[in-house]
Amino acid sequence: MNKHVGNSWEQRDMESVFHGFTDLETLNKNGPVVLTHGEGIHVFDVHGKSYMDANSGLWNNVAGFNHPGLIEAICEQARRFPGYHAFFGRVADTTVALSEKLVKLSPFERGKVYYTNSGSEANDTVVKMLWMLHRRNGQPQRRKIITRVNAYHGVTVATASMTGKAYNAEFGLPLPGFIHADCPHYWRFAKPGESELEFSQRLARNLEELIIKEGADTIAGMFCEPVQGAGGVIPPSEGYFQAIRPILRKYGIPLIADEVITGFGRTGEMWGSVKYDVQPDAIVASKCITAGYFPMGAVILGPDLCDALTRVSEEAEEFPHGFTAGGNPLGSAVALKALDILETEGLLENVRRVSPRFLAGLNSLAEHKYAGEARGVGLMGAVELVADKKTKAPLDGKLQVSERIANKALQKGLICRPLGQAIVLGPPFIITEAQIDEMFDILRETMAEVFADVGL
Ligand SMILES: *Cc1c(COP(=O)(O)O)cnc(C)c1O
Repeated sequence: MNKHVGNSWEQRDMESVFHGFTDLETLNKNGPVVLTHGEGIHVFDVHGKSYMDANSGLWNNVAGFNHPGLIEAICEQARRFPGYHAFFGRVADTTVALSEKLVKLSPFERGKVYYTNSGSEANDTVVKMLWMLHRRNGQPQRRKIITRVNAYHGVTVATASMTGKAYNAEFGLPLPGFIHADCPHYWRFAKPGESELEFSQRLARNLEELIIKEGADTIAGMFCEPVQGAGGVIPPSEGYFQAIRPILRKYGIPLIADEVITGFGRTGEMWGSVKYDVQPDAIVASKCITAGYFPMGAVILGPDLCDALTRVSEEAEEFPHGFTAGGNPLGSAVALKALDILETEGLLENVRRVSPRFLAGLNSLAEHKYAGEARGVGLMGAVELVADKKTKAPLDGKLQVSERIANKALQKGLICRPLGQAIVLGPPFIITEAQIDEMFDILRETMAEVFADVGL
């Protein structure tokens, strides 16, 4: 059946929607998946076919697709006060309540929250905060931003420059002044015989050399995801943050934790920063802050950055930056509820409870002849496919094995994500052990069929 003919939803999509981050060859061949609704961890397409979403939408729909409490929270707020901005000292009461809650949940003893509509905008906002701060502090040359190879920090001009992915060359990015340190992926980048701790220490030495080479007084800040997400789910090597933290302190370089994926429980802790003892100066949150029910990003400033930024903003009369819809009360209401159910409905507890089953499932996939590494933490993980387990040589890219696996799994009613040569999983926090088993059963079967198809 060719679904994208005639006046179907698929055909209408093909004629009206310009898709980003979509393999267009696959789209043209298979057509889009047009969805109507969801139930628990499943979504349904216009033909009534159901899919288990092993990626929680895009990491964010952690409470499932039809949570009655979240829906009611947004409806109740809509009836009372559906929209307002946060400029000129005005703000919705619900947004104040959310800010208190975020600071309370954060690892900071005190701080303040700045709102955006997305993770990209939140990271972009921090870049401007740092630039203004250093400039007002008599160090206008402190503008360079350090991130890491394979980092993902967003898609705006600044955050695409921070993202350490080759595709940004399409836009002539990164801009000058955005520099990329090493990726802390031990399995891929360790030298022969190097222990994990030695690897982390080598990366820290490289970072210090990079800082000195660039000029320590030209660096505005460093951004790190506690676990690299879109880079292929890469938890930091052992001792990594402990090794780099003192170096950043030594040169007065603020460390920003991009917790857009790891914030609010994904790793089994409320924050990736807590899990890995990152000790950031500010946290950027977005994806699951509203459980995926409303666009929202937040910058949570720790005490030092908050005080410093308040001081320079007072000098300048204001922090001249804002998004019209930032701090929208519908988002605030649903975020308050989402953070509430993490604790009251045991979502965070469930991540901890089912994580061992999830990680065991990943490890069982790693026994496959062409699986090089299984890695993960909490409810995020990846299996990296290789041509040769020993040499870690990648599969021939032309075979498109990870894409084929994802496409075939989709036919079987499972949504998972190919990222480079890896298959990435990040199921909703409400997933059960039985559903985890089902997910890995489908994946195992799919992998066997695909490797047979490509003749491996
Ligand atoms: C998704 C993501 C972003 C960007 O968030 P958007 O809401 O898509 O702009 C930034 N950082 C990380 C770590 C992300 O995973």
